[in-house]
Amino acid sequence: MGVTPEQVKSWARDYDSHTPQAILECALAHCDNIALSFSGAEDVVLVDMLCKLSKKPNIFSLDTGRLHPETYQFLDTVRKHYGISLHLVSPDTQQLEAFTQQKGLFSFYEDGHKECCTVRKVAPLKRKLSTLSAWITGQRKDQSDDTRAQLAVAEVDSVFTGVEGGQLVKFNPLANWSSAQVWQYIRDNNVPFNPLHQKGFISIGCEPCTRPVLPNQHEREGRWWWEQADKKECGLHAGNIAPEQPKTVVFHVNYPVYNALI
Ligand code: SF4
Repeated sequence: MGVTPEQVKSWARDYDSHTPQAILECALAHCDNIALSFSGAEDVVLVDMLCKLSKKPNIFSLDTGRLHPETYQFLDTVRKHYGISLHLVSPDTQQLEAFTQQKGLFSFYEDGHKECCTVRKVAPLKRKLSTLSAWITGQRKDQSDDTRAQLAVAEVDSVFTGVEGGQLVKFNPLANWSSAQVWQYIRDNNVPFNPLHQKGFISIGCEPCTRPVLPNQHEREGRWWWEQADKKECGLHAGNIAPEQPKTVVFHVNYPVYNALI
């Protein structure tokens, strides 16, 4: 029998003060068809934890085609360090070619990041998640007061669906951890980390949309800095954003995924 929404709610409540490892154990115990989404940043702590809990961890990364060279190098470092088979999920070629032919390579600076993120991140993620019943993310509450403050350690995904359009459970084991705790874990366990962190980057995404931040600047200020703070989700966790009702209608018929993004 599958996991019920009530079970997920009870995990969110019961595991809220548990360690990330205990949350991962709960996820692995109840969900067979589960994978970790690894961004190539400090969420590498989850790769480390998962590899200590599972002999065959299922881990994937979204290869947008626009990541920093350092991040590509780091993904390969992680693959070799842990001896894992890291699934790099790429955008659909036809969709990407149509988009870049029409809009070029930097349209996000002119009309926002949503369209490019949809092609390069959201659509590939949607395809990957349609093969799963649960996924694990590295989201934390302290990454954004605007969009992640209410994050639960377990939830039914309100944006994406799993196998055959069925329920998809989402685990956020680091929800209650601070950046300081993540970095303490990295140091204590000799976990490899992305060299961009040594160049002032805190949050790491695509190269054209990520920049280093100054001391005491919030990490999200280094992402899509030309856009409004409460809209800074790339669509992977669009359920964190309260939708603006009037704008959803236009794209809904032909591009259902846009409904989650605008
Ligand atoms: S983060 Fe920037 S480059 Fe990457 S998919 Fe989104 S808009 Fe495109």
